[in-house]
Amino acid sequence: MHDDSQQDEWSLETLAIRAGHQRTFEQEHSEPIFPTSSFVYESAAEAARKFGGQEAGNVYSRFTNPTVHTFERRLAALEGGERCVATSSGMSAILSTALALLSVGDEIVASRSLFGSTVSLLDKYLGKFGITTRYVELSNIAAWEEAVSPATKLLFAETPSNPLSEVADIPALAALAKRCGALLAIDNCFLTPALQQPIALGADLVIHSATKYLDGQGRAVGGAVVGKHDILEEVFGVVRTCGPCLSPFNAWIFTKGLETLSLRMNAHCENAMTLARWLDQHPAVNKVYYSGLEAHPQHALAKRQQRGFGAVLGFEVKGGQAGAWQVIDATRMLSITGNLGDVKTTITHPATTTHGRLSEDQKAAAGITPGLVRVAVGLESQVDIQRDLARGLDALEAQ
Ligand SMILES: *Cc1c(COP(=O)(O)O)cnc(C)c1O
Repeated sequence: MHDDSQQDEWSLETLAIRAGHQRTFEQEHSEPIFPTSSFVYESAAEAARKFGGQEAGNVYSRFTNPTVHTFERRLAALEGGERCVATSSGMSAILSTALALLSVGDEIVASRSLFGSTVSLLDKYLGKFGITTRYVELSNIAAWEEAVSPATKLLFAETPSNPLSEVADIPALAALAKRCGALLAIDNCFLTPALQQPIALGADLVIHSATKYLDGQGRAVGGAVVGKHDILEEVFGVVRTCGPCLSPFNAWIFTKGLETLSLRMNAHCENAMTLARWLDQHPAVNKVYYSGLEAHPQHALAKRQQRGFGAVLGFEVKGGQAGAWQVIDATRMLSITGNLGDVKTTITHPATTTHGRLSEDQKAAAGITPGLVRVAVGLESQVDIQRDLARGLDALEAQ
């Protein structure tokens, strides 16, 4: 007989396939979609109880939708968190968390190498409401310690970083957060729970852009926050009231995407590792940034806290921006785009796209040099990915 109470014994691969689906009376095998904005009641009394929260049940899809709840339960199980709240995008997951937890005068300490829109959100929008952010080097725990103050309420990090694959020591950051009475939030976009579970390492909150690997096939935009019940109740309040909710259709896509998460992430890692080693010995490449390489400064730390090294890597080619553009323009299969987390391999020139808004000084501080190329390795044949990059790199070497 079907029995969800066994869930505690399930491994990650099983949870990704089976957690969170509560069958309806139709006894469907695959997770259904409920594309309905609202729900009806048998009586005025039932409506009153459900609106008042005395009885659990669906009310309105801005905050209660069965398809969205399936995705939330599944992702919470994978991250090892008590509760998950899904949002319309990764950015609205970050915004909802900030609105839930912070007030005027509070401070955030964040890693310097963050997704571009996250920096704009923290500086331009939260800054407007008297919430200030200090940025520190991701892997330098002493810098974090120096930056916290009695007003610090949130530590925020993306690890590994994009595009240089820098790694933060999550248990050390969690200990620091505890000491200063702040919460630690980790943006787990690049590794997903298949490769890293920040809550088990001591983080209070995990943030996702589901747009990336959780879907994994570039079909939908969405996000999520995972953590303890009491904190997530506050985040839920923001989403319920302010409205950055996930659509049932997108929630269904992500739920089905999760079913292949482990398989995909392992394959992404394998392709990325092979490519990193090949790039590392190519004469047109000065340097490869990938935490899976033994020479990477945080390789040992990455090995300790991650189950894999992910599939986003940076490499610096000879010839500065001209060289980088030549390699990018010589590709015929790779997608030239800023996106990542897709079965299709993407290639980007960070200095003029994703990090283009930074000043020259900020770029230099973040290690975004003119010759840097970022590849988010997909699931095409490794041979074909390599051949596509070899065309430009071999030509560069011959110059
Ligand atoms: C894409 C991304 C985001 C933002 O997510 P959206 O779904 O695009 O809003 C946040 N953090 C990281 C690390 C990302 O890659």
